[in-house]
Parts: sequence; structure tokens; C-alpha cells
Amino acid sequence: MVNTKFTGFALLSCTVLLLAGCSKSNAAKLELDQHASMLAEVIAPVLEDPAPELKKVVPEAPPTPPWAPADPSFSYVLEIDHGIRNDEGGKGAFLAPRAHGKHNGVDFLAEKGAKLLSACNGKAKADKRGGYGNVVQVVCKLPDALGGDEGLHASFFYAHLDKVNVPKKWTAIHAGDKLGTVGKSGNAAGPKIKPHLHLEVIIRGSEEDAMLERHSGVVPEAAEAANRFFELLDESCLKPAHFTSSREVRRERRVDPFALLMCASKPKPKLTTPENQELAAAQIRWSQVYKAQGFNVDEGPRLAAPRN
Ligand SMILES: [Zn+2]
Repeated sequence: MVNTKFTGFALLSCTVLLLAGCSKSNAAKLELDQHASMLAEVIAPVLEDPAPELKKVVPEAPPTPPWAPADPSFSYVLEIDHGIRNDEGGKGAFLAPRAHGKHNGVDFLAEKGAKLLSACNGKAKADKRGGYGNVVQVVCKLPDALGGDEGLHASFFYAHLDKVNVPKKWTAIHAGDKLGTVGKSGNAAGPKIKPHLHLEVIIRGSEEDAMLERHSGVVPEAAEAANRFFELLDESCLKPAHFTSSREVRRERRVDPFALLMCASKPKPKLTTPENQELAAAQIRWSQVYKAQGFNVDEGPRLAAPRN
């Protein structure tokens, strides 16, 4: 709302200045006098008005969409977001073709040394795992909307780290804590492969099962927990947010990490292009793989509920 008292004062000041500048001509002065009195008539009531109450300009918070927990306990896994890796070593999308079959995770393109954050409150431990190089596993209980009354758990597997900041024994960790840094350890060492975080997420029925999860092979007994999780993910997030991927978001007990983070974590940082030209050339934007009416997958924020 315009502050009418201030506007009135400003108009009056202008008139006084005009009068001072035109004193040489009596005729002009007379005309200006008339103008001034007309203006005064208009301005006087405005000036006498009590100061109008300033309307609050703070916009009301948009209603929380059903797929956006009011206080999400999960965190995005990087402070700076550069999308997905796509270089001579291959594409980093979930289920992208690989010599051994399909890609089990998502490769988050990032500068070597970029800080890696714990996705959730739970337990973490470090390890060395051949082709995956330096790894950190983080196990957490899923939010109720995704884990149900069963208390399903997620195991996050971070690979190819440079530095590691957690011990080799299970240790309590909080969402957003530093796990280590992005690197090129394991089979990401070659010059054709740009630095990235290889992240996998597996769903298990309990904390114990999640902690025993090795992130390899097939585990038939995990199917029930995974089925329940995907039912909840679909109902509580993917469907209402109209979220789709150009590939499936499930492979047995594995979920597409980006889909899970969009549904469970605080909004991610805005996608930016790396300053390093070689890294920039290896970038795929999230919106080239994912479509969503409920999320801006590149910019980060959750959007108001789409109309059906
Ligand atoms: Zn990968």
C-alpha cells in the first residue's frame, strides 16, 4: 500500500519549489497561486488523514504440499549442486547402461574436494571397497510417510570419496554432518571420468538389516520391505507431485537416490554450472531426466500442489 501521507507531503514540496522558480511573472504567479490552492484542497484532507496502518508485506507461506514434510529431517548430500555426470566414462543417471549391466546409483557431478553431507540422522561408517574406492555407508530410519509403521530403514552408499571424515566403526551422525569430500577413488580414477559422488540407496526392513547391507548382489528377503516402501513413496510423494523419471525409479531393493532426496530432504541447492570447463562439459541437468510439477528439479524448491 502507498503511504498517502508521504505522497501528499512530496506533492506539496514540489509546488513550493515551482512557485519559487516562477516569481518573475505576475501572471504566471497568479496562475500558480490558483494551482497551489487547488492542490492544497486536494492535499489537505490527505495530510489530515491519520497515518494508514501499514499493510504487512510479508507473503503468507504457501500451503505445504503433501509430499513436503513441514520439517524434513533429511538433507541434500552436497552443498553445491551441478546435476548429473555425463562423460566419456558413461552416463550417471540411475539405471544408465554399464558394461556390467545397469548403473545402481546416481552420479552427482562435483568438484574434487566438494563437501559431502550426511543425508539423515542415523549411523555412519567408512570402508574401502575395490572399484568404489573410499566409501561411507549411512543408515537411517525413513520418515513415517515413507517408512510406515514398520519403521523401514534406508542405507545410503557414498562412493569414490577423496577424504573421509567418519571412522570405520558405526558412529552416530546427523543430517548435514560432513562425511568427507568428493574424489576419484576406485574405478573413477581415470582421466576420462570426471569427479563425482556415486550415491546408492537401498531400502531394508530394519536398522539391523540396513547395517548389514553390502550394496551388492540380490537380496530376495528384502523384497517385502522394498514393496511397502515403493507403495508409500508413490502415494505420499511421486503421484501427488507428478514426479517422473525417464527411467524407472526402482531396481529391486534400490531406489533412485534423487527421487528419494526430492521427497524426503530439505530443498536442494540451486543447480549451477561448474566454473571448470571440463567439468561443465560433463553436466546433465536434472530436468533432462526428471519431470515434476511438484518440484523444481533444477532450482530446488517444492512447488504448490499441482491441479489434477
Ligand atoms: Zn556411479
